[in-house]
Amino acid sequence: MSNLKIRRAIIYICLLAAAVSFPLACSQLRSRRLAAGRDAYLCIDNLRVIDTSKEWYAHQHGLKPGENVPPEALIELHAWPKKCPSGGKYTINPVGVDPLCSVPGHRIPKD
Ligand SMILES: [Zn+2]
Repeated sequence: MSNLKIRRAIIYICLLAAAVSFPLACSQLRSRRLAAGRDAYLCIDNLRVIDTSKEWYAHQHGLKPGENVPPEALIELHAWPKKCPSGGKYTINPVGVDPLCSVPGHRIPKD
């Protein structure tokens, strides 16, 4: 086999490998993006449950902005503890401040 034929064979093999692996890589990237979007959606849902329960407790007990809701109260309301699907840590925060997740992008959207 001549050198030219060997080079062509190598180029064809490389092109074939690229043709097979590119759609696979795109599919894996799309799956990761969907999973990240799903996790963020579930996490924001948790944050809304925590926030609504916290504000309800504050209203019922006459707490003012800046005061803390005891975590035990949120446990009774089944709003605590919650787990971020991406492994983030939640911070309840005082009344009037949104609860937070440590994962970037996991925030209650502002209207
Ligand atoms: Zn989160």
